[in-house]
Amino acid sequence: MDATRRRFLTAAGAAAAQNMAHAQDHDHDHQAVPSDPALRVKALESLLVEKGLVDPAALDVLVDTFEHKVGPRNGARVVARAWVDPVYKKRLLTDAPSAIAELGYTSGQGEHMLVVENGPKVHNLVVCTLCSCYPWPVLGLPPVWYKSAAYRSRAVIDPRGVLREFGTPVDEDVEVRVWDSTAELRYIVLPERPVGTENLNEEELAALVTRDAMVGVSKVPAPGEKA
Ligand code: FE
Repeated sequence: MDATRRRFLTAAGAAAAQNMAHAQDHDHDHQAVPSDPALRVKALESLLVEKGLVDPAALDVLVDTFEHKVGPRNGARVVARAWVDPVYKKRLLTDAPSAIAELGYTSGQGEHMLVVENGPKVHNLVVCTLCSCYPWPVLGLPPVWYKSAAYRSRAVIDPRGVLREFGTPVDEDVEVRVWDSTAELRYIVLPERPVGTENLNEEELAALVTRDAMVGVSKVPAPGEKA
């Protein structure tokens, strides 16, 4: 097992352990998580490989795809295109999966996506209160904090407080909208184009767009500004 693979399994185990903690302090329906998920994943994988049902090289390609090829840079290109092309932006806001597929980004966990647009008086924040639903084709795998019980509960109870902690204070006269992702519908924030970017081309704009801005916990920094 290479190091990348091992890190992935370690992260998967940590995330599952968090889910287990979440399941224990709530009484709503959650799938029971095994006591040592990472070990069980490894055992299952070994068994599938041993029986010839799964090719380990194919698994590595899959993991590598979601860790390195599918990621927030895809989403950043979608955002930049929307900033420079109003017609594309309109398509993105009305039929996100098709508009995103136009740029070549398609994969599982993204069949139904909705883009919500930030503006001077509206700030959107995305969470999955139940688990970790996330738009994989444009953002890749969710960060650990997105899956944490603290973020999942507090993003709903105190979104402005959470935003402040992410270094994104939102003025009182700006409405904060919280979107709860599900397996059926996953949300992406179309952040505001920062001031001072009028002369940047699409590629330069894409370089400014961060993953956190597309989840809504931060804004896109202006050129030279710290993210
Ligand atoms: Fe979820």
